[in-house]
Amino acid sequence: MPDRTPCIAANWKMHKTVAEAGEFVDALLPRIAATQHDVVICPPFTALSAVVERRYGTAVKVAAQNMHEEDSGAFTGEVSAPMLVELDVEAVVLGHSERRQYFGEADEALARKVPAALAAGLEPILCVGESEEARDAGQTEGVLERRLQADLAEVEDDRIAEVVIAYEPIWAIGTGRTATPEQAQEACAFIRDVLRERGAAADAVRILYGGSVKPANAAELLSQADIDGALVGGASLDPEEFAQIVESA
Ligand code: PEP
Repeated sequence: MPDRTPCIAANWKMHKTVAEAGEFVDALLPRIAATQHDVVICPPFTALSAVVERRYGTAVKVAAQNMHEEDSGAFTGEVSAPMLVELDVEAVVLGHSERRQYFGEADEALARKVPAALAAGLEPILCVGESEEARDAGQTEGVLERRLQADLAEVEDDRIAEVVIAYEPIWAIGTGRTATPEQAQEACAFIRDVLRERGAAADAVRILYGGSVKPANAAELLSQADIDGALVGGASLDPEEFAQIVESA
């Protein structure tokens, strides 16, 4: 089975000014100096450069939280993949449930964004997850399968292993409710099976869990066979808490 380097990503959402981002990175770097994992920070667009400049020569990668599928054009307020690459950004979060819920991010757009990110040399971190209603109705697997099929429809099979998938049950995001390690493992294993059916090198795909990950629950979640890391929201805003999560992976 291929080695999957654990990946711990900090999704800051709409938090941190440039000054605050700089303080965070300065506090984080000495705490994670020995890590062998991929550590990814996802700041707002305005703080990308500040984080990029401070992390040169470290294990930290930088990801944007969204991008447009076109390289340029009349799309007011949007940012494209080549613009991110120019800043030395290496990855991009796509399809976060907050973007799907509040900004109408649709599978049709994601089906274009994922290949556009890959074409530009960005590592896409594609988020998929079910609502509480879907879970209660026994539709978790159906939702995950539909999203994966739709959002990865235009990605060639031999490039799917370059996509990081984040399993983020919507009911666990920012709620303090965490999926049990068994629930998270079951969903991540299912995601891997769906990718395998697509003909992808599914064992090489990194699958992260996201949803109220904290220092207290990280180790157990991250020890599951099909969970290769975490996408962390609230607990990633504090360098000490985030460093503890990186350490527990
Ligand atoms: C997220 O924003 O992707 C997330 C998982 O948030 P939280 O850790 O706060 O639940």
